[in-house]
Amino acid sequence: MTIQNVSSFAKGAWVAPGSGARNIASAITGDVIATAGNDALDVQGMLAYARDVGGPALRKMTFHDRARMLKALALHLRDHRDALYQLSFETGATQADHLIDIDGGIGTMMVFASKGRKEMPDAQIYVDGEIEQLSRNGTFLGQHICTPLQGVAVHINAFNFPVWGMLEKLAPTLLAGVPAIVKPAASSCYVTELAVRIMAESNILPDGAFQLVSGGLGDMLDHLTCQDAVAFTGSANTALKLRSNPLILGNSVRFTAEADSLNCSILGPDALPGTPEFDLFTKEVSREMTTKAGQKCTAIRRIITPEGVTEAVIDALSARLDKTVIGDPRLETTRMGALVSAGQKRDVLEKAAHLATEATRVYGDPDDFVVQGADPDKGAFVPPMLFFCETPDTATAVHVTEAFGPVSTIMGYRDLDHAIALANRGQGSLVASVITHNTKVARDVALGAGAFHGRLYFNNRDSMGESTGHGSPLPHMVHGGPGRAGGGEELGGIRAVKHFMQRTAIQGSPDILTGVTGQWVAGAAETSAGAHPFTRKFGELAVGETLNSAPRTVTLDDIEHFATFTGDTFYAHMDDAAAKRNPFFPGRVAHGYLLLSFAAGLFVEPNEGPVLANTGLDALRFMKPVSAGDAIKVRLTVKKKTKRNDEYGEVRWHVTLTNQDDEQVAEYELLTMVAF
Ligand code: NDP
Repeated sequence: MTIQNVSSFAKGAWVAPGSGARNIASAITGDVIATAGNDALDVQGMLAYARDVGGPALRKMTFHDRARMLKALALHLRDHRDALYQLSFETGATQADHLIDIDGGIGTMMVFASKGRKEMPDAQIYVDGEIEQLSRNGTFLGQHICTPLQGVAVHINAFNFPVWGMLEKLAPTLLAGVPAIVKPAASSCYVTELAVRIMAESNILPDGAFQLVSGGLGDMLDHLTCQDAVAFTGSANTALKLRSNPLILGNSVRFTAEADSLNCSILGPDALPGTPEFDLFTKEVSREMTTKAGQKCTAIRRIITPEGVTEAVIDALSARLDKTVIGDPRLETTRMGALVSAGQKRDVLEKAAHLATEATRVYGDPDDFVVQGADPDKGAFVPPMLFFCETPDTATAVHVTEAFGPVSTIMGYRDLDHAIALANRGQGSLVASVITHNTKVARDVALGAGAFHGRLYFNNRDSMGESTGHGSPLPHMVHGGPGRAGGGEELGGIRAVKHFMQRTAIQGSPDILTGVTGQWVAGAAETSAGAHPFTRKFGELAVGETLNSAPRTVTLDDIEHFATFTGDTFYAHMDDAAAKRNPFFPGRVAHGYLLLSFAAGLFVEPNEGPVLANTGLDALRFMKPVSAGDAIKVRLTVKKKTKRNDEYGEVRWHVTLTNQDDEQVAEYELLTMVAF
């Protein structure tokens, strides 16, 4: 059998294993299948290459450029995923596990590609939040912005997700405009290496945007600066060791950790046997125990159920676990493959033995189980193991020991407060799930346990058809947790991108803020091109370009006509005496929607032209009532332009309505699609 030389990808070239290389064994046969590591790797040169070559190339691009690049990369990986599946079987993962790791990683990258185009500007600066009014007359304002760190992100990943683990960190990092150096865990690094080869061969990313260390990092972490970041996934011990590096502490290097987590699932007091929730609960727990052979940072380690039903839960779970065919993951009938290595198997059995000091094993025997298509003595196979802890209040191991395999402990609770207290005994977890159809139970858990958990997953008969699973971190939602879970935060949509950018408070005049952000700020210079802005194409319109309309007087007839026409005969528009009794109105007033309609009539250019559609309206405020006899006029200014494709782009207009005394009566942002 040929042994795969797992190379590093450093400074744009592949570096084969060398001195200090480690052998890596197949999870299924225990045979050595690969070797990785090279003590001579120029790790400082890699940092410099990322900072000097990758960073500048990425920062030249806009968020949309980088989002399009991520989409192309994800599609390219998808086209080559079969090769990844084939190799990944060696890690002990089944095809169902591949869908989480490989397809899940690609899907995560696709979500960031999409969010980058929808929620970030086609620009190099991200505007964070709203303008802050720092002065009475609006000549001095504040605005937060985010710009990419000018260093490198070092990603240290765990063995359990060689593809997802890389892509879920890479996507937000690259979208931010920061180059990455990826260091996968040794035991599955050969799969990551193949994914990196696929990415490198695509030539989609600029040189230096990503590099790979297969093997040890050497002294790389001793050369990081305040512009660098470390994102770590793995054990709490390693996290502690790495984050307490004096240089990382001294330079305030951003360090996020996602570590051991004693996640739990609570069966709601309402979800008793016979309810759809009870079946849902046992289904989710057995799936979480056996997916990836329980090697998931989000797997359910503690099963918290009402005291009276623990036996029923054990019976139902055992019946489900009985159906778990263990064996060679390549076989279609296999439901659970092997742990990643003999070392992991030893670790899991040791931790299970430790749990057995406080809990009784009620399902699964590591000395007596069937493995199909593989030798149980050579591969890293273990059966699902369920423990029952009768004294969860006095026990400690069940709340602190993470057996990183198909191992869970069930424990009973007296009432919901007790369940919450037990859930929180994990001292910080990535996710807690609650299976309940009772909204009060959900609220009480959210209030009582939210602070201890990065994610709360509620499921019941209404959502189970579409729910995504207790153990699935979604790119849209925060992944990470307090305390034992590492205290870090990954994913969560654009929040994750900001982890690789510096937020800076910008203070200055409206013109300065407009110049910095590329978005028009009220009070900044207004320009006119002479022609009506609706006659100008997307590429011709300039930020700040403004139309000031003629005034239009609102009459009582207008108000009555609008009321009859639309059916909106609210008293404030129709009954002068009643309106006067309302502290907001001086008497009968015009409908807000009438003013909006008049505004459209005042600024519109009716002929066919580049404005293709009005797609919405944001941040509408009515500031002052308009009475019959008042004259309103409109100011329409290009606030922001976002290219959508080669045919059209979105123009966001800032619109204000003022009365005859120049008092602002309404304000909003109008969205239009404008042709190129
Ligand atoms: P480790 O913490 O040992 O390794 C995690 C990553 O850190 C790997 O890439 C590893 O590389 C790297 N690493 C280890 N030491 C150093 C160092 N000194 N400098 C730089 N990088 C380093 O975890 P394992 O993968 O060995 O798993 C051990 C246990 O951790 C599991 O049994 C489980 O309990 C827990 N775990 C938790 C996860 C979670 O997400 N909650 C995920 C995975 C594991 P290398 O492999 O080359 O040593």
